[in-house]
Amino acid sequence: MGKKNKQFVEKITAMEDDFAQWYTDVVKQAELVDYGQVRGTMIIKPYGFAIWENIRDELDRQIKETGHSNVAFPLFIPESLLQKEKDHVVGFAPEVAWVTHGGDEELAERIAVRPTSEVLFCDYYSKNIHSYRDLPMLYNQWANVVRWEKTTRPFLRSSEFHWQEGHTAHATDADAAAETDKMLGVYVDLVENYLAIPVIKGRKTDKEKFAGAKYTLTIESLMHDGKALQSATSHHFGSGFAEAFDITYLDENGESQFAHQTSWGLSTRIMGALIMVHGDNRGLVIPPRIAPTQAMIVPIAQHKEGVLDKAYGLRDQLKNLVRVDIDASDKMPGWKFNEYEMKGIPVRIEMGPKDIEKEQVVLVRRDTGEKEFVALSDLETRLPALLEEIQSNLYNKALEHRNEKTSTAKNMDEFKQNLEEKGGFIKAMWCGDLACEEQIKEETTATSRCIPFEQEEVADTCVCCGKEAKELVIWAKAY
Ligand SMILES: [Zn+2]
Repeated sequence: MGKKNKQFVEKITAMEDDFAQWYTDVVKQAELVDYGQVRGTMIIKPYGFAIWENIRDELDRQIKETGHSNVAFPLFIPESLLQKEKDHVVGFAPEVAWVTHGGDEELAERIAVRPTSEVLFCDYYSKNIHSYRDLPMLYNQWANVVRWEKTTRPFLRSSEFHWQEGHTAHATDADAAAETDKMLGVYVDLVENYLAIPVIKGRKTDKEKFAGAKYTLTIESLMHDGKALQSATSHHFGSGFAEAFDITYLDENGESQFAHQTSWGLSTRIMGALIMVHGDNRGLVIPPRIAPTQAMIVPIAQHKEGVLDKAYGLRDQLKNLVRVDIDASDKMPGWKFNEYEMKGIPVRIEMGPKDIEKEQVVLVRRDTGEKEFVALSDLETRLPALLEEIQSNLYNKALEHRNEKTSTAKNMDEFKQNLEEKGGFIKAMWCGDLACEEQIKEETTATSRCIPFEQEEVADTCVCCGKEAKELVIWAKAY
């Protein structure tokens, strides 16, 4: 059994040795994805999709609870429609996949496979919004989109990915701003309280904002290797798209007004964050609130009389309380331990003849590896409590890691030194000038992640040019 364990773990590269390879190994070994036939596409396998479904279901619940309706818009966008909003088309043009033929026949107009669906919603809104009574229009869709990426990695950057995109239209700029804030709040709740990933909330600089938006709000999280990942964004469009698409309504005085819009999205990229924030050298670590299986029962010496009966009995006893499963296959317990550690299942429940005799089970935590003996009579209270402990421990560990890897810089020398020695988030003042933002990227490859809502004054002057500082920016190398 010892040998088997060893071989199994050796399938994953240690994250200290090669983080990128570790990621690829985990994604493969934990059976999350396989590669598709077209470069950059991925097959999300049952276990990967089960995790995504739990994320999706919770987010969908909150989207509906905040008054939005789900819809399904087409996969295709005519080229002329995509070109209606100038900034938008320039932003997405390099990544668009085009359909040029239907069967053998060349199409009169090229058709884009949606890279995002703003223009489709705008076109619809222009035809369906007439009066202030039609507003707000609060739509969301769960969809796949295509962006022809040059370099791809499962979940992080794939040519096709799954997401939700919310698209809303409002009477006033203030209403749209409130919506943009509200949906960022929904993402914060999902990512912090369900995925156990602490986030920094802020606004993107103009350089990093969504193509065509007035401004973009973002939540940024920090991966184990010290690189940042944009976890979700919420965009305020102002009336820019409405003017391009002629989305107008008659207000209460009968005067024509432009609508004000938002869009907001969270994608399967968040699966990459989940892996890279919580995972370790034994594989995935899935927070209990989104784990497809929260506890896995592994019977010990299951060939002995009564063990399997008891183990199934335990499963039935717990199944309405937690998401529990049992592995009664004839594989060795050591193989099963490794397998479910690799899959990041929060708790393993061991039960063998001795435990049955003592009317107890052994609970083993995935996050710390700690074991505890729990009397069967206490299990129904202890197990859910343990799952909550694991949930908060994962969040706290991630927050501690982020704090360790967050530093401040007053000048470029400090900036470069911090980035090289620690990586992570760097807090530094900025004058607001695009030239400085570009120079920082050029010299360090770090980008501005956001202008955080929680502002501090770590210096008086811009980290780059030394002129008067306007605001604090969080910088990092990013996925
Ligand atoms: Zn500057």
